Amino acid sequence: NRAEPLLSVRDLNAWYGESHALHGVNLEVFKGETVTLLGRNGVGKTTTLRAIMGLIRKRTGQITFDGKDLMHLPLHRTAHAGIGYVPEERGIFATLTVDENLILPPVVADGGMSVEEIFELFPNLKERRNSQGTKLSGGEQQMLAMARMLRTGVKVLLLDEPTEGLAPVIVQRIGELLATLKKRGMTILLVEQNFRFASRIADRFYLMEHGKVMAQFPVGELPDRMNLLHDVLGV
Ligand code: ATP
Repeated sequence: NRAEPLLSVRDLNAWYGESHALHGVNLEVFKGETVTLLGRNGVGKTTTLRAIMGLIRKRTGQITFDGKDLMHLPLHRTAHAGIGYVPEERGIFATLTVDENLILPPVVADGGMSVEEIFELFPNLKERRNSQGTKLSGGEQQMLAMARMLRTGVKVLLLDEPTEGLAPVIVQRIGELLATLKKRGMTILLVEQNFRFASRIADRFYLMEHGKVMAQFPVGELPDRMNLLHDVLGV
């Protein structure tokens, strides 16, 4: 349903102690969309994802997801509402195997994939199923971090720089995976520094500066926005 956003963020402010990091972020993500947050280092992209998850408790504004008010939910309830967060450092269990990492997170909603389905989507993880997290390459760790969220049945993925530090061929593979997830109806909110990658997979963009959104546009307007992106991002 295009009319109601699946995830809606209104006038979101967030603080680290006394330091005011977000100054009224507004954004919406509709079901099935892939939306990318762009912006230079330190503008608040990661903070926006963390504040949505409830990992930053000093926040004001409105956040609704799937009709639920997230502002007043404790952290574990936010995850259980169906939001899967993959932080930049990926957050897999380093000393557990691929299999164990996949099996451990509880299923929180209907529609989670079985481990077999996940291995169809990520055949390289199947080959590595008995390897410990620490033994995986950066690309394999990123895929495992995404895969373990898919098993839980989350309805939206918040991904923080999934291509960070990965070789071009692996970046391409992550792009194909996100395209496959999108075809299956997954909703994705992505923070990405790799503009070329983001421009291939996103339906819409939000450009952040100084803790707020300064522009938003659909992928079709990208050619018209290149001057702005050049000025703000240097791309
Ligand atoms: P990056 O890609 O570098 O992570 P970003 O756009 O995601 O950039 P944030 O990490 O959200 O930016 O940071 C926003 C602001 O909050 C920055 O000024 C940063 O220095 C500050 N900040 C981030 N984390 C903390 C923290 N744990 N304590 C204090 N200030 C922080």
